Amino acid sequence: MDFREKSWWLETLPADLKANEALESSEKADVAIIGGGYTGLSTGYHLKLLEPKLDVRILESEVCGFGASGRNGGFSMTLFGLTKGITKFRFGDDKAKAAQLYMEEAVDYLHGIITANKLSCEYERNGYLLVATSPAQIKRLEHDFEIIDRWGLKGIERWDVKRLSKEFNTGYYRLGWFEPRCGILNPAKLAREMKRIAEKKGVIIYENSPVTGFEKKGDGRFLVRTEKGAIRCDYLVFATNAYSLVFPQLKSMQAPAFTHIVLTEPLYRKQLASIGWKSRAGVEDARDFIHYYRLTADNRIAMGGGDVSLTFGANFNRDVNDKIFSHLEHHITEVFPQLSGIKITRRWGGPVSITVDMSPAIGYIGNDRKAIYSLGCMGHGVSMTSLNGRTIAEMICKMKTPRTELFFVGRKTIPWPPEPIKFGISQMVRGYMKLEDRLIYK
Ligand SMILES: Cc1cc2nc3c(=O)[nH]c(=O)nc-3n(C[C@H](O)[C@H](O)[C@H](O)COP(=O)(O)OP(=O)(O)OC[C@H]3O[C@@H](n4cnc5c(N)ncnc54)[C@H](O)[C@@H]3O)c2cc1C
Repeated sequence: MDFREKSWWLETLPADLKANEALESSEKADVAIIGGGYTGLSTGYHLKLLEPKLDVRILESEVCGFGASGRNGGFSMTLFGLTKGITKFRFGDDKAKAAQLYMEEAVDYLHGIITANKLSCEYERNGYLLVATSPAQIKRLEHDFEIIDRWGLKGIERWDVKRLSKEFNTGYYRLGWFEPRCGILNPAKLAREMKRIAEKKGVIIYENSPVTGFEKKGDGRFLVRTEKGAIRCDYLVFATNAYSLVFPQLKSMQAPAFTHIVLTEPLYRKQLASIGWKSRAGVEDARDFIHYYRLTADNRIAMGGGDVSLTFGANFNRDVNDKIFSHLEHHITEVFPQLSGIKITRRWGGPVSITVDMSPAIGYIGNDRKAIYSLGCMGHGVSMTSLNGRTIAEMICKMKTPRTELFFVGRKTIPWPPEPIKFGISQMVRGYMKLEDRLIYK
């Protein structure tokens, strides 16, 4: 399979991109990382920053960026888990505030990495706009504004209809939450650039090297096996996100679900002028199944969300969903009727990692704290996983930092029940969210 088929972003990578050599021998390392998305690459990069002498190896089953990191919407944003309301309900006010601050740090930190290392990933710090398009969505935004006010956080602007109409030529938006610190980028290019700087620091990366299993040996070290090779290591990091359920120890901690994106042809100057979108901020609405959309560097509109494809067990062939694609195509002209007739040039999907409480987790497997996992970032992992990599590196280096002490680090996730019960429950939750969207959030 050509990895470029998995998203338009992956198609924008250089045509002569060659995968690194697979692991075909028995090796030793201090740390082995399974998964070459943002989490794995950032962990490797930060481990070498903190302890340059560490021998760090990444094992990626396809090519770095093959997973969600090479297919996402490219929003660098501050959402922790699904919504602020859920985080507050699940963990309480103080922890929800800590989560918001961690995410603000994540967005600023990713901005810092991109600019300091001159990562070529079409990064535009244009902000993030959450729009309410119905009375119920206005209520939701008002609730979030109240929370932010109570926490005394600054840096978020309230956009009324007049302000919104200066930006956009659409009658669709009724209230806006604008966060200037956020940005948009080409996610696949970010992944490949993260790979570049990790390798520059000395991380060894094997591609086309799916990990088939691992075991703990009598000496306390791990033996990690791929199809043709093996690595013995002291520390093991599972940076496999939505794919984590292939490992029995992580199986019930999260479940994958697929979110989808459609992409238009590039807009002509006149078409772009007709819709406004002057700030070029990434936009989301406030439904349960949000729609997220943005301009690309060459002025296409990428429109995603609206619904998800659920998976049964470890079925990862859920990239294509024609019903969701049609819905997203229609939604472009629902928001911008001026674009009637615009051509759709690409459609794709990718897996996000869902925990039962819709919140991320970084944790240990076993009591000796030598195996670490990170999962459950939902559709909000671009900035978060980049900072999570730093947090995981600090955990391995036995550092105590504001990040390693956070409530979601080392927390126990609520297990998903086995199939078919898990599939049944997720169908029910999806049905409820869709109904709510139809009845009150439309
Ligand atoms: C369509 C879509 C839109 C999204 N939009 C946004 C957005 O706009 N903003 C945002 O913040 N977040 C968004 N997300 C979420 C974000 O993309 C993820 O949270 C983030 O990329 C997760 O990074 P990761 O490194 O943890 O996982 P991944 O990028 O999925 O990396 C996991 C890697 O592990 C590899 N792997 C799996 N099994 C094995 C194995 N056995 N051995 C070796 N390697 C293995 C995979 O090939 C993969 O490369 C979106 C996700 C999707 C799918």
